[in-house]
Amino acid sequence: MIAPLQEEAATPVPVLRVSGVIKVYQMGEIEVHALRGVDLSLRAGELVVLLGPSGSGKSTLLNIIGGLDMPTRGRVMYRDCDLTAADDKMLTRYRRDHIGFVFQFYNLVPALTARENVAIVTDLAEAPLAPAQALDMVGLGDRLEHFPAQLSGGEQQRVAIARAIAKQPDILLCDEPTGALDNETGKLVLAAIARINRELGTTTALITHN
Ligand code: ADP
Ligand code: MG
Repeated sequence: MIAPLQEEAATPVPVLRVSGVIKVYQMGEIEVHALRGVDLSLRAGELVVLLGPSGSGKSTLLNIIGGLDMPTRGRVMYRDCDLTAADDKMLTRYRRDHIGFVFQFYNLVPALTARENVAIVTDLAEAPLAPAQALDMVGLGDRLEHFPAQLSGGEQQRVAIARAIAKQPDILLCDEPTGALDNETGKLVLAAIARINRELGTTTALITHN
């Protein structure tokens, strides 16, 4: 099963608490036990790395933390809010206001520049970073007007990271953000995530092989 690798808390306040979470997928007559009783705390400002072999439930756990999926049993608390008791509308608001997601594939809009891809999100947020500032944080201050096709894979992923953090989420969730990149490029992407955690203090949970 998966365990937090790094637990040096900047402060002891838990932003998110997962307790006794079980996830069972029912596939016809077969039950798939994706999570068998997971406990995890994300404290304010910490960076937690989730490690485990393929199929060990990492994405399932991250999706539950991010309000994209519900546990079968157990509890997920975001500050004082019980996500396991929340309805769809509350979960949508939770994702919109508090969560930044980065996936293996960047999901950028091809017809929009780097700056415009980030602006899609900041237009909806309450206290966003300027798109240029978010892109600068990931080392792309000189690529604002580039379209995705004019950027390398690692640069596209950094645009996706800028998009995720521009709304200043409480929690940044990254599911194998380096999965489609070579080692050296992957390191640049991880460095961008570490810098955001350090400089913006964004609580971060990261699944990675690098
Ligand atoms: P990881 O991200 O660590 O590779 P996952 O969380 O994606 O693992 O999957 C954990 C287990 O749950 C796997 O056995 C997978 O096949 C199963 N699983 C994941 N999502 C679903 C789903 N939507 N329906 C059925 N089974 C699923
Ligand atoms: Mg996965």
